[in-house]
Amino acid sequence: MALSELIIIGAGPAGLAAGIAAKVPAIILERNPFAGKKLLLSGKGQCNFTNAIAPEEFLQRLGEYKNFLKPAFYHFDNQAFIDLLEANACATFIREDSKVFPQSLQSSEVRDTLLKILHKAGQSVEYDTRVSEITKEGDYFILSTADKRQYRCKKLILAGGGAAYASTGSDGNCYQLAAKLGHTIIPSRPALTNITVKNFGAFQYCAGISLKGAELRLGKRRYSGDLLFTHQGLSGPLILDNSHLFQPDVTIQISFIQSNLLTLSTEHKARKLSSYLQTKGIPKAVALALLSHISAPDKALHEYKHKDMRRICESLQQVPFTVRSLGGEGIAMGDYGGICLKEVKAGTMESKLIKGLYFAGELLAYTLPTGGFSIQMAVSTGMLAALLK
Ligand SMILES: Cc1cc2nc3c(=O)[nH]c(=O)nc-3n(C[C@H](O)[C@H](O)[C@H](O)COP(=O)(O)OP(=O)(O)OC[C@H]3O[C@@H](n4cnc5c(N)ncnc54)[C@H](O)[C@@H]3O)c2cc1C
Repeated sequence: MALSELIIIGAGPAGLAAGIAAKVPAIILERNPFAGKKLLLSGKGQCNFTNAIAPEEFLQRLGEYKNFLKPAFYHFDNQAFIDLLEANACATFIREDSKVFPQSLQSSEVRDTLLKILHKAGQSVEYDTRVSEITKEGDYFILSTADKRQYRCKKLILAGGGAAYASTGSDGNCYQLAAKLGHTIIPSRPALTNITVKNFGAFQYCAGISLKGAELRLGKRRYSGDLLFTHQGLSGPLILDNSHLFQPDVTIQISFIQSNLLTLSTEHKARKLSSYLQTKGIPKAVALALLSHISAPDKALHEYKHKDMRRICESLQQVPFTVRSLGGEGIAMGDYGGICLKEVKAGTMESKLIKGLYFAGELLAYTLPTGGFSIQMAVSTGMLAALLK
């Protein structure tokens, strides 16, 4: 049986960060034959590893998880991550939209740099090692692997990822390991995923078109962001960031215009409505699909009665789309669910239930928006957990 002061399960960004920050010799156990399989896929292989917005704004973007994640972010924030990579010869750049990437636009460079720093710190990863059981005996955790090896440690960091994109090795199995130790698991469902829509009709001809600043209405809640049409449904940050709130058969409403947009001026009276909508930033294919979807005729503006125009205006502010399906956890970029945050100390990442057990990264029950927030917080929580406070 191998003995180590600290064992870290998972060599994704959270586990690698924990290994880098650990002050004691650690063993990182990774089920795959290489590290960071999900990290390599991130940002379409380009790795949007953090976001350069100011710290206060960054925290706001963490939404309802802000308070839980604040200590981890303050411990190792976005600038600290950029600095760490830069100091280790991984040049980075900030895109116009504040997303940060390696200058090479190769996610492998971020992964390899983290590994290089880890090795410099004298730590290493044992690959092809899937932990299948964890028990606690006295002060020690006993870990059994799928190929019947055993490890023993006093401190354990669970950084095995969530349940999304199972082909990467993060298939939710660590939820079960934590549940067996007594932790509550918030049931997982897909997040950060696109949707297919019932009766998509003429919108199928809009595939590839994106619209800035559309507004999603879900009951009384409103969210705004960029919307992308796909062949069978909707995507873009507006949909991805809120997809954990959707379910099949639920009808969501999207507003395509602001309330004052259809104040008609005389110069536009001869224009057709679809053409007028184009002057308001709605591409022609989308304008035509919208009018067909809300059963409105496409006439010259002066041909509409005032009350008809008001009805059309109202309809364009609440265009209904009924969800057919969400990209399942096999393809979703994240999942909603995981280790219940109420059972984890935000200031240390230690379990409130089991002494010596720590958590880091996406297996915690937080769901963050697109834009580099997930990788940043995996690294931040990993760095904090490794203090073993
Ligand atoms: C397609 C895609 C694109 C994405 N793009 C972005 C992006 O651009 N920016 C961003 O911020 N986020 C992005 N994300 C999300 C981001 O990749 C994750 O949030 C991040 O990788 C989570 O890090 P983690 O270390 O917590 O978990 P993971 O990266 O999932 O790592 C967990 C590791 O644990 C290992 N493991 C699991 N169980 C065991 C076990 N029992 N024994 C041993 N090892 C185990 C897994 O094999 C895995 O290597 C993307 C995700 C996907 C799927």
